[in-house]
Amino acid sequence: MAKKKKFYQTTVSEFLSGRYGFDELSKIMIILSMILMVVSVLVTYNRWIYLVAIIILGIGYWRMCSKNIKKRKAENDAYLKLISGFSRKARTKLEEQDKAKKYSTFEMHKELGEDGETVYAVYTCRGCGKVLRFEENQGLVKIICPECKNELLDRI
Ligand SMILES: [Zn+2]
Repeated sequence: MAKKKKFYQTTVSEFLSGRYGFDELSKIMIILSMILMVVSVLVTYNRWIYLVAIIILGIGYWRMCSKNIKKRKAENDAYLKLISGFSRKARTKLEEQDKAKKYSTFEMHKELGEDGETVYAVYTCRGCGKVLRFEENQGLVKIICPECKNELLDRI
């Protein structure tokens, strides 16, 4: 029995590897299709609504299994942007993504100088590990790694 479970887990993880997976857009598609199914079966008895629900559900699952990760991510970003006008959660999600993208070249942390007053923004290059220090309150600064030419425009 335990052996069977392990086999199942391996198969599932192999199937899922390299695939796009679940996101906000697929979530809303699945929820929407469920609502439409309930409406078509219990309220309108309209088989066309039911068909539309099945199609939406199918696209939702197909997106999750898709291997074109870049394209699916772009669709999800477009969806988040569309609803960010009236959803705070979507805005937060977009901001988190932007932040992660922004610091993909450098890792940043703040450090207090030896004088105990000056605050430094310390950037560690993710390419080579080189550490660059900048005094705070300089506004927009273009940070360039002298080793691997990684770039980041940041407000310090
Ligand atoms: Zn570097």
